[in-house]
Amino acid sequence: MANKNTQIKELEKALLYDKKSTFKTATADEIAAAESFCEDYKAFLDGGKTERAVTAQVITRAEGAGFTAYAPDKKYTAGDKIYVNNRGKAVTLAVIGSEPLDNGVSIIASHIDSPRIDLKANPLFEDGGMAFFKTHYYGGLKKYQWPAVPLALHGVVVKADGSVVQVCIGEDDSDPVFTVTDLLPHLSDAQYKRPSKELIKGEELNILVGSKPYVIDDSNEKEQGSVKLAIMKLLHDKYGIVERDFASAELSAVPAAKARDVGFDRSLVGGYGQDDRVCAYTSMAALLDMQGIPNKTAVCVLADKEEVGSYGNTGLGSDYLAHFLEDLAAAQGVNVRRMYEKSKCLSADVCAALDPTFPDVMEKNNTAFMNHGIVLAKYFGSRGKSGTNDASAEFVGEVARLFNDCGIVWQTGELGKVDAGGGGTVAMFVSRMNIDTVDAGVPVLSMHSPLELTAKSDVHMAYRGFTAFYERF
Ligand code: MN
Ligand code: MN
Repeated sequence: MANKNTQIKELEKALLYDKKSTFKTATADEIAAAESFCEDYKAFLDGGKTERAVTAQVITRAEGAGFTAYAPDKKYTAGDKIYVNNRGKAVTLAVIGSEPLDNGVSIIASHIDSPRIDLKANPLFEDGGMAFFKTHYYGGLKKYQWPAVPLALHGVVVKADGSVVQVCIGEDDSDPVFTVTDLLPHLSDAQYKRPSKELIKGEELNILVGSKPYVIDDSNEKEQGSVKLAIMKLLHDKYGIVERDFASAELSAVPAAKARDVGFDRSLVGGYGQDDRVCAYTSMAALLDMQGIPNKTAVCVLADKEEVGSYGNTGLGSDYLAHFLEDLAAAQGVNVRRMYEKSKCLSADVCAALDPTFPDVMEKNNTAFMNHGIVLAKYFGSRGKSGTNDASAEFVGEVARLFNDCGIVWQTGELGKVDAGGGGTVAMFVSRMNIDTVDAGVPVLSMHSPLELTAKSDVHMAYRGFTAFYERF
């Protein structure tokens, strides 16, 4: 009897897939390493709440690690470290490998834009004795999550003379913050009857920016102007801008809160913009920390515009990545098509993890779990895999072997049950170049909310997985 039982156990071990938590195999050192790794990750999130802020921060870090701005006419050799800044909103890092480019390059592509609330071109208005900004939200956010939380304002304003003003208010503890107002529950009967998608409507995402009128007070007489004028005067005094300059501005409201540890055990990171800055950070760190010269040229793509479909010249729907790789190939006299067909890409984006409070949208055999490692997803997409890259079995197998060889804990995942919804990543824009591409990223809870959650063990596992990809592929 005992013998038969052992036989079954052995057969199970040999034949069945045993889903395992990162903690099952992690040593105390590895757990501690994940925790300390996430200290800098939280700082990266705090200093990178927009694609512009991430780009600036990545370039500073890359230059500190010996990277220099790419010069198209320069000939680069093995070990050279370069970066390309695409209009301050997307950045690509590369370390030239020892093998020629027609052996292919190793690309990890993530995105550094996140859902947020953008100001309209003519945002400032006054009503009820208060001044507000009109907004148009960016990306797929649940609008009801954004009122009644402190918001910071980030971006640039291009003035009539062409000069550019940088704006960042609400991040420093001494700064004021901004907020979208919501209705009190006492008077919400009608609001509660709205379809939940319209609990807060797009045109109700108005940001409160002030309530004090402009006043001229000399000894005999007090003359009062509008609150709107007072706000514009403050902005003019500080930034030299006038109302018309909003038309040539990019200003975004994002949660003002800093990234924090979550849980008694501090095992999770809570913070805004982890989709997809968690993959941006981990792939960047993998490249910056790399010792020695990789065999294949290693490329870290940090793209903008993914949350709105990758359109625009800073998104991967643009040819900017192709142009960079083609220029590198031309400098080595390499046929670019040979380079592309041998290249490999991890499309590094987050995946929804099982939320036990909402299990119905997930299929339990195929969902990703928190603290179960990096998610290798053959496909995303929606309604019959529409819009998916659908990686080949061969390439998924190749990446799985790499992870297994390097002790990387990985799991599979999908974006919810069949026909429950779905979504895409940048994978299709890279695979379009005839590059083998598969999605690999970090599981996330409360995706696209002001407080997204990741598990520290998964964040660190992604870093280790990306490191293995750059160093061993
Ligand atoms: Mn994403
Ligand atoms: Mn997203």
